[in-house]
Amino acid sequence: MAAPKKSTPKKPTQKGSTQKNSTDIAIIGGGLIGLCSALVLQHAARKITLIEATDIRSPGQGGMNARSIVLSSSSVQIFRALGIWPQLLSRATPIRKIHVSAQGRWGVTRLRAQDYDLDALGYVVDNQTLTQCLLQAVDESPRIKLQLKTEFETIEQRPSVTINYRKNKRLQSLQSQLLLIADGARSKAREALDIPYHSVDYGQSVVISNVRVSDAKPYCAYERFTSQGPLAMLPLGDSVYACVWTLDPDVAGQVSNYSDAEFANALQDSFGYRLGFIDEVGARFSMPLQRTRAKGLHRGRCVLIGNAANALHPVAGQGFNLALRDLACLYELLGERRLEDMNFEEVEKLGKNFENQRLVEQSKVIRFGDGLVTLFSNELPLVDHLRAAGLSLLDLFPALKTQVALAGMGMTYGGNRLLRGRL
Ligand SMILES: Cc1cc2nc3c(=O)[nH]c(=O)nc-3n(C[C@H](O)[C@H](O)[C@H](O)COP(=O)(O)OP(=O)(O)OC[C@H]3O[C@@H](n4cnc5c(N)ncnc54)[C@H](O)[C@@H]3O)c2cc1C
Repeated sequence: MAAPKKSTPKKPTQKGSTQKNSTDIAIIGGGLIGLCSALVLQHAARKITLIEATDIRSPGQGGMNARSIVLSSSSVQIFRALGIWPQLLSRATPIRKIHVSAQGRWGVTRLRAQDYDLDALGYVVDNQTLTQCLLQAVDESPRIKLQLKTEFETIEQRPSVTINYRKNKRLQSLQSQLLLIADGARSKAREALDIPYHSVDYGQSVVISNVRVSDAKPYCAYERFTSQGPLAMLPLGDSVYACVWTLDPDVAGQVSNYSDAEFANALQDSFGYRLGFIDEVGARFSMPLQRTRAKGLHRGRCVLIGNAANALHPVAGQGFNLALRDLACLYELLGERRLEDMNFEEVEKLGKNFENQRLVEQSKVIRFGDGLVTLFSNELPLVDHLRAAGLSLLDLFPALKTQVALAGMGMTYGGNRLLRGRL
């Protein structure tokens, strides 16, 4: 893993001496984005404290029951910069082709990595592998203090930010120069700061499950638009695919309660036989689909990131990737500045600049995802024809297809140091 590049951390204080509980950067939430934030920002601060409510060390669901995520090229570059990409790459499955189709329609489009001079359009990795890899890097860092089973309760601001949290039933507090809020879509910290948010209920649910197929197509992902919503099949190893199936909420409820055989049959009906027979299915998970967007990305010394800022529809596989690009921007803004020398107004300005620089791309990604959901979920006959035509037109116009592919890979919006794979 890449070693922190700035000054070495302060020596620990002697046993028995009193130490003010303070840090340069505090992060609330040790999900994927909180962990990544700590690993990136340790290169811009002397001390990071990460507060996580649960015990993320206890292994989550693995094997056929694992959840997974698609990493875009921009995310790969960040992991490269952090020195953890070789380890992740050995456990990730590259997507070299994406086959996009609509159920019962003639339109098909294909995206191929080789057309963009790339090894892969994205990489599928299971969340547990990713979490363990990030945790290992966090443990190896002398600058990151991870506090598990620690629940944030309240925030006070000015001049520094004070985070009050509960650990082992004891209320404690921590002072910080900058606070990153990464406690997820239902962020309690966002609420404590009185940052309003906007929610859209898509009226759909997603059912997720891994399936083993009889005729896997190596490194090929499938996105199939059905009348109920998109169905993605992502390669996860040799013959296993991660299925992300968007359905009407009632249907999703029924489908997730199906037996293995009933589920395999229903999925086979919707997806068809492009991958042969579905031979085995893992546990099913279902959740309602909502998009939540905070109305603002900062308040005083506090900055929102990850699902706390934007929880997106999984159709375009962008929530995590977008948040990593947000993080790259924040890192660039911190640059060579020393947080400990920055006053309240300067840190607040940093938050404002972050918001200004990120809102445009965030809006584009949200519109892209919403556009796909609307286009492919509408039952009107005219839309149905346009939808089918849209897919084949996309196949005929390489420039347009390139735009869609590059947006999916997170490569359309220039690059900063981290996005070029450098710290
Ligand atoms: C089905 C599905 C598929 C997806 N696929 C993709 C994909 O392919 N590519 C992609 O880029 N994105 C994808 N996403 C989105 C991606 O999963 C999320 O963007 C990402 O996981 C968000 O991480 P986060 O750390 O911001 O939030 P979370 O994962 O919600 O983590 C928040 C953390 O904060 C902790 N916490 C909460 N409250 C407190 C508190 N009071 N005190 C302390 N800690 C607290 C929680 O315990 C949790 O660990 C997908 C999402 C779904 C639902």
